[in-house]
Amino acid sequence: VSRTNGPSERTTVRRLSDRAVYDRAEIANILDEGLVCHVGLIESGFPRVIPMVYVRIDDRIIVHGSPASRLLRTLAEGAEVCVAVTLLDGLVLARSAFHHSMNYRSVVLFGTAEVLDTPEEKQSALRSLMERIAPGRWQEVRPPSEAELRQTLVVAIPIHEASAKVRTGPPKDDEADYALPVWAGELPLRMMASAARPDPRVMPGVMLPEYLERLRSMVPH
Ligand SMILES: Cc1cc2nc3c(=O)[nH]c(=O)nc-3n(C[C@H](O)[C@H](O)[C@H](O)COP(=O)(O)OP(=O)(O)OC[C@H]3O[C@@H](n4cnc5c(N)ncnc54)[C@H](O)[C@@H]3O)c2cc1C
Repeated sequence: VSRTNGPSERTTVRRLSDRAVYDRAEIANILDEGLVCHVGLIESGFPRVIPMVYVRIDDRIIVHGSPASRLLRTLAEGAEVCVAVTLLDGLVLARSAFHHSMNYRSVVLFGTAEVLDTPEEKQSALRSLMERIAPGRWQEVRPPSEAELRQTLVVAIPIHEASAKVRTGPPKDDEADYALPVWAGELPLRMMASAARPDPRVMPGVMLPEYLERLRSMVPH
């Protein structure tokens, strides 16, 4: 089994450690299903956690934004960062209040970011991000101009020091509580798309792209 460089001291899951996963492929699968990460760092002495869209490329995740963004500037300066991604799979309803839980797959990783410098590197990363969100769209849209690329800071965060934690299955009640006349079980949850709403200024005759139809019917995992 291929592993990340861990578990390291800080990626060792201590609470309910049987749910810990350090397998590189499983960590990658979770990252590939998520869209939004929470990026946490210390800035001017204070902790800050900010949501951002991301894409995994090989053993790095890519985030981007304005060079004016304080968070991105701090990242680009080489600050230590912690990134979390959570996929919520369901509610777990137990017979006791105490044993209620959630089914989830989540990743926490630590590292320092590297700035992608060249316009080619940036464009390629932004293309991967768009293709992750709407596969097929990059070839339709106007690509970023040189000025737009200059106005975009793109950074890569390595996935070397990472852990995943996964919970699946029914509640785990105390043995005595299984005799209680209380419904218990799982309520699976998933993210789904609704019908697309065209922008009122779409040119006449331009139809909903086929890749968006496919996204609508996409059932995660
Ligand atoms: C789903 C999602 C995806 C996003 N993807 C990106 C992305 O890819 N790139 C990107 O640059 N930005 C993204 N954003 C916006 C991002 O969260 C920040 O608002 C933005 O990056 C500005 O960061 P900053 O450090 O310059 O914020 P500043 O404006 O300097 O932040 C100042 C303060 O404003 C508050 N604040 C900032 N952002 C938020 C927020 N999102 N919600 C609530 N309070 C906030 C906080 O208190 C923060 O300390 C995304 C937001 C969401 C919800």
